[in-house]
Formats: sequence, C-alpha cells, structure tokens
Amino acid sequence: GGAVAFDNVVFGYEPDRTILNGVSFAVGAGETLAIVGPSGAGKSTIARLLFRFYDPQGGRILIDDQDIAHVTQKSLRGEIGIVPQDTVLFNDSIGYNIAYGREGANAAEIAAAAEGAAIDSFIGILPQGYDTEVGERGLKLSGGEKQRVAIARTLLKNPPVLILDEATSALDSRTEAAIQDTLERIAKRRTTLVIAHRLSTVTGADRIIVLDHGRVAETGTHDQLLAMR
Ligand code: ADP
Ligand code: ADP
Repeated sequence: GGAVAFDNVVFGYEPDRTILNGVSFAVGAGETLAIVGPSGAGKSTIARLLFRFYDPQGGRILIDDQDIAHVTQKSLRGEIGIVPQDTVLFNDSIGYNIAYGREGANAAEIAAAAEGAAIDSFIGILPQGYDTEVGERGLKLSGGEKQRVAIARTLLKNPPVLILDEATSALDSRTEAAIQDTLERIAKRRTTLVIAHRLSTVTGADRIIVLDHGRVAETGTHDQLLAMR
C-alpha cells in the first residue's frame, strides 16, 4: 500500500488567502515524488494536510484510494512517517530519541530497537562517534546531528508513506550528499514524498512537481525539468 493522491485540493489557513489552489498529483505505491518550489509555495502545507492537521476546503486526498476525510489523525500517523524540517528532541539519549517513534514500545523494546538501529542500516545516518545508549543528550546535538536522529527515528517506524520535508537542509553539503544517497536507497522500497527547495537535491525522484502560486506549475523527471529551464 501507500499510494497517495491529491485531487483538485483547495486549501487556505485563512478565509481570504488560498495557499493551495486546485492541486492534483498522484504517487503510486513504492514511487518517489518530489515536491519542489520556492519558500512559501505550500510544500509543507501538503504534508500537514496528509496528516489531517487541517482539512482542505475543496477536493480530496486519497491514500490507497481511501478518502482521508474518513480516517482519523491517529491512524494516519501509523501510515505516514515524516522527517520534519525542524526537529525537536527529548533531552535524553540518542537511542531513546530514535526509538520513541515506536508506539507502545516498553523500555526494553526501545533499548533493543535503538541498538538494532545503531548496528544495522542506520550506520552512516547516525552522528559519527556517538554512543546511542548513554551519555550524549538530544539537546546537545547540532542541527545537522538532530536531523540525522530524526531521519533514523522515522525510518525505524517503517511507515508505508515517508515524507522527507527538507530533511537534509541543515547538513553540510558533503554529509547531505552521503545521507541523500542512503535516503534514495531507502526510498526505493516505499512510497516517498520528498519536499525540497532546489531541483538539484531530488535527482533520484521518479517524478517531480513544481509548485508555484498554489498550483502545480510543472511536472516531469529531473532531466525533463532541467531541459525546460
Ligand atoms: P513551503 O513549505 O513551501 O515553504 P508552507 O506550506 O510552509 O510553504 O507555507 C505556505 C504559505 O502558508 C506561506 O505563505 C505561509 O506563510 C502560510 N502559512 C503556513 N502556515 C500557516 C498558518 N499556520 N497560518 C497561516 N498561514 C500559514
Ligand atoms: P509519532 O511518533 O507521534 O507517530 P512522528 O515521529 O511521525 O510522530 O512525528 C513527530 C510529530 O511531528 C508527529 O506528531 C507529527 O504529526 C508532527 N509533524 C510531522 N510533520 C509535521 C509538519 N510538517 N508540520 C507540523 N508537524 C509535523
């Protein structure tokens, strides 16, 4: 599962100011769609609507052909994992911060999950040289290190739909390239929406939509869009 579709979605936070002005797109299960556009274009708003933090004033949002208007926010949280732009961590160990996203996990499960996270697929994502179990506290990490923890935390939930909301924006460009690589590999195994500022960071997406003034202005692959510039 994990197919996502926006069908002519209209939304504004305030009555007189429309942010999304009839946005339509579809992502098949297992595909990666990148949403690109200038700051303020409404990219994060799309993520918030998917979580039902807000409901659209027009159109429909579908996950696996089901209108999410009939789905609770709680169950959407089980379907969708997001790596947000700004991560807030608990002042606890990195392991705790990573495993927290697993609902209902008891202390032993959290410890096991954090350990698994450290020795398995998250090598390269976790901050280098940190012990996940002891010592280092979330609040002491830099912006880029927090982003690594947020990525690991969301991946551990193994959600059918993954949203990366400028997930590597706080990293230096070398680290960003390395983590982007890992994310692209992970993205191949699930439905992924990548929110990005620049076209250059989403070369691996199956399709890209460019959002402008509340509408989908362009759609294409990275190479097609590049050729249009
Ligand atoms: P992007 O992610 O593309 O930078 P956003 O989706 O965050 O853009 O925001 C789109 C527009 O909606 C912006 O003009 C922003 O100021 C406005 N906006 C975002 N959140 C709110 C809110 N809670 N209330 C009112 N306006 C908002
Ligand atoms: P949970 O552990 O509760 O399942 P997640 O780890 O998926 O939550 O995400 C952390 C929290 O941040 C969630 O409650 C989610 O709803 C919220 N969140 C995620 N993305 C955004 C966003 N773009 N804007 C505001 N809040 C968000």
